[in-house]
Amino acid sequence: MENGEKASVHRILIVDDSPKARLLIESMLRIQGYNDLTSVESARQAFDVLGLQPGEEPGANDFDLILMDLLMPEVDGLEACRRIKSSPQFADLPLIMVTAEDSAESVKEAFDAGAIDYIKKPVNRVELMARVKSALRLKQETDCRKARELELVVLTEKLRKLSIVDGLTGIANRRNFDDEIARAWRRAQRESSSVALIIADIDHFKSFNDRYGHLAGDDCLRRVAEVLALSVKRPFDLVARYGGEEFAVLLPDTTEAGAEQVAEGMRKAVEGLNIANPHANATRRVTISAGVAAAVPNAGSQPAGLIAVADGCLYRAKREGRNRVRSATTEVSCV
Ligand code: GH3
Ligand code: MG
Ligand code: MG
Repeated sequence: MENGEKASVHRILIVDDSPKARLLIESMLRIQGYNDLTSVESARQAFDVLGLQPGEEPGANDFDLILMDLLMPEVDGLEACRRIKSSPQFADLPLIMVTAEDSAESVKEAFDAGAIDYIKKPVNRVELMARVKSALRLKQETDCRKARELELVVLTEKLRKLSIVDGLTGIANRRNFDDEIARAWRRAQRESSSVALIIADIDHFKSFNDRYGHLAGDDCLRRVAEVLALSVKRPFDLVARYGGEEFAVLLPDTTEAGAEQVAEGMRKAVEGLNIANPHANATRRVTISAGVAAAVPNAGSQPAGLIAVADGCLYRAKREGRNRVRSATTEVSCV
């Protein structure tokens, strides 16, 4: 190694049919600290080490740079370059063409094939090093940028999830519910299908909090949310925390009778949790009351009408003794 150069971690693939040329390039690179070198004598061997042969897993060998001889028997450098660059795994892998010919046409062909640079043969050490260094710097920058982009995608997805999830219970939040009911409503308008809605509210929850404290109250909310979420089965059903101790369940493509069954299942499941609430008059357990409504929405109507009807039914369930489900058949005129 010269001039105190540090050993490089970069992996370089040298493709040249001339053993002399391979040796020369290798030794020049080694002197500069590039020790992770793979030399092959044909394009086919290059495809092999890159995993580009039929039935192989591309990108098995991760290189940072390819130095490719232009003139080779069978598959020449241009064709090899085209083939390598057409594989998405190697789209950002820099390839420098090493050529005895530097006519404008031949250089243009090399760039068209996907090479980022070219070096003239016989190879000059200073030129080789300058080109290799700049190609590797570009590769490093591209890798960094791609890693940052990936981080951003992961972060964006994380934020998107956070923005639609209720922090306490982990189910959908109110904002997500508002978006989804609007979407389900439009779809039902197009398809003349029925949208059903359940609004459920924990009974005597204030007394539960007063008796056991807010932390126990929070825990209770989490457990209720969990069983409600487990009570729906279809992929487009949505269980959301609507507010405080109130939950909204959106059931697209569902009739009122179907939604009533789901609501009754939820009521039983919450009762089945057996969480004590001494202030709950009849059961002495944590229970829910639920209102159910469904509608085939008219063109131009909004889901607010359906929400109001379900809410009205919920209050009827409360008035009529709690721990029960009430519904109202909502006609198509629901606006
Ligand atoms: P009802 O049977 O008529 O629904 O009576 P209720 O006591 O459940 O209803 P009310 O609206 O009087 O009280 C709701 C209570 O829910 C108030 C508050 O103590 C509790 N609550 C709302 N949000 C939360 C929360 O995030 N955590 C906890 N621990 N309690 C909450
Ligand atoms: Mg309540
Ligand atoms: Mg309430």
